Parts: sequence; C-alpha cells; structure tokens
Amino acid sequence: MAQQARLLTLRRFGKTIRLYAPLYLSNFCRNTCRYCGFNTLSNFQRTRLTIARALQEADIIASEGFTDLLLVSSEDREFISVDYLVELAGRLREKFSFIAVEVYAMTAAEYGRLFSAGIEGVTLYQETYNRRAYHYYHPAGPKSDYEDRLMAPDRMAAGGMREIGLGVLLGLTDWRAETLALAEHAHYLMKRYWQSHVSFSFPRLRPAFDVDRSQFKHLLSDRNLAQMVMALRLCFADAGLVLSTRERAGLRDNLIKLGVTKMSAGSRTNPGGYSHPGDSTGQFEVNDNRSPADVAAMVRRQGFEPVWKDWDAAFSKG
Ligand code: SF4
Repeated sequence: MAQQARLLTLRRFGKTIRLYAPLYLSNFCRNTCRYCGFNTLSNFQRTRLTIARALQEADIIASEGFTDLLLVSSEDREFISVDYLVELAGRLREKFSFIAVEVYAMTAAEYGRLFSAGIEGVTLYQETYNRRAYHYYHPAGPKSDYEDRLMAPDRMAAGGMREIGLGVLLGLTDWRAETLALAEHAHYLMKRYWQSHVSFSFPRLRPAFDVDRSQFKHLLSDRNLAQMVMALRLCFADAGLVLSTRERAGLRDNLIKLGVTKMSAGSRTNPGGYSHPGDSTGQFEVNDNRSPADVAAMVRRQGFEPVWKDWDAAFSKG
C-alpha cells in the first residue's frame, strides 16, 4: 500500500507539500460536543477576535510566509457571522492567495456569499457517520442535526466552493467503518459535483480542556492512521490529503512520503494565539510545535518542495 500510495501521489502532485496556517477567530460555541474543549458547557474565559484583531493575527501569519489561510471558528454565528467572514475575507484577499473556512454549517446561499467574497474552500467534518454515536457525542445545539451536517457539502458545492474538505474525528468509533463511509461520501460528491475538488483531513482526538479521554474506546494507532491515509490515496488519486499539527513531528515527516499533500505549521488553536500565545484557551493540544520555517526545512530535507502559494508557480517560495 505504501509503495503504491507514494507512486500515485508523486505522479499526481509531484514532490510538493502545500503549507497553510489556521487562524482561530472565536471559542464561543453553542454546541455540546463531548470531545471538545470549546463546548458550551465548558467553563473558561472565552475570546472573540474583532476584525481588527483578526487582521493583526493574519499579519503575523503572513510574515511567516503563508499565503494559504484557514479561518476557524466554533459555532458562534452571533459574532462570527457571514457578514463578518465576508468583510474579513475582503480585507485578507491582498495578502492571501487561498482562503478557506472551517466554521459552522451554512446554507447554499451563505456559502455562495463566502465564495463571492474570495473564500474558495470549506472544511466541515462529519465527525462520525455512525448515527447513534453522532447523537451521543452531539447531544444538543445546532450541530446535533445529523442530516443537516451530512448535506452541508452538497450546499458548499451548490454555493460554488472550489475545495470541499471532509473528515471524521478519529477515535469516536471504529476507524475502518468511518473510512469506508467517508470514501462513499466523497465518491458521491465527486460524481455529482465534478467542479469542486474534494480533500480529506485526518483529525485524531487530542487531549482537550475539560474532556475526559477515558470515554473514547476507539483511539487508533499511528499505524492505523497511516493505513487510512494510504487507503484513501489508493481510492482517490487526485484528492488532497491534509495533516494538521495535531500529529507529532516524526509521524508527520513520515506521512509526507505516503500520500499527504498539505500540512499546517506553527499553528495556534486559541483565538489571538499568534500575538498572545498564552492568553486564551485552545481547542486541543498541538503536538508538532515546530516553527513554519522548521517544517519547511524538514519538507526540503525529504526532497520535497514546500509550497506556500500554489496558484502561480512564479510567486512560489521554496
Ligand atoms: S467541535 Fe466545534 S462545534 Fe463542537 S463544541 Fe467544539 S468548537 Fe463547538
């Protein structure tokens, strides 16, 4: 599997790894996801970034070399509204060549508004395709509606999004069944919405504020995670495979050679964390704490090119 996954990835993507950074905008949340430190029942000092503060954070990210930005927020529609995202994207367009969001599920019209404002990708995890587990882990709040979440990628495509990011939260249920369901979902979307590009992320449960890890009976090993990455590559030759700093450095380094095409680096998972690292609570513990420059150097050492901007090769930095 490893050899085939490696060959297929090299053939389709060459020796390149796209780098991106997440920008957390808010940790206010209306949901009660049992695995997440931001859930509405957790008691901690919450933070929201004004547009001015978000721009300051984005400036720091841009100064590190990134032009690919992921705007992340918990379900905080009151403050991180569609209007807020539209305005922020308008102000970020000059500095960032690719902007995506990882926020709450929206309507097709709302996704269309984001796309018109220059946001070209959306990542939204189903978390689990197992309905019973889904209802257990999402007992209340807008996210408790399984069907609504399941249909969100269709709405993204209807809204014109170029990149649709799928994923499950690994560790909630059996990873093999989840991988099969994820693949089926992707297959359906690719057949129906050929204009949009589907990518997969591999978020594995990490220790989080006020979350009891003993409730998770399906935590998977590094070997299982690698197998999942390779299996999805073998099934979807053109799909982007994204790995975040949830994973430790050594594993990330190895998975570059087995199918991963995009990585975050230097991430802060707390709103305002780039300018004030210790001032707010993060969504989960980051595992790979290397700087973006160190991650880029590691990518180069492996014989790959770190790609900060993939629209126009003439502007790429190596
Ligand atoms: S996973 Fe997202 S929606 Fe659920 S509690 Fe955390 S931030 Fe809120």
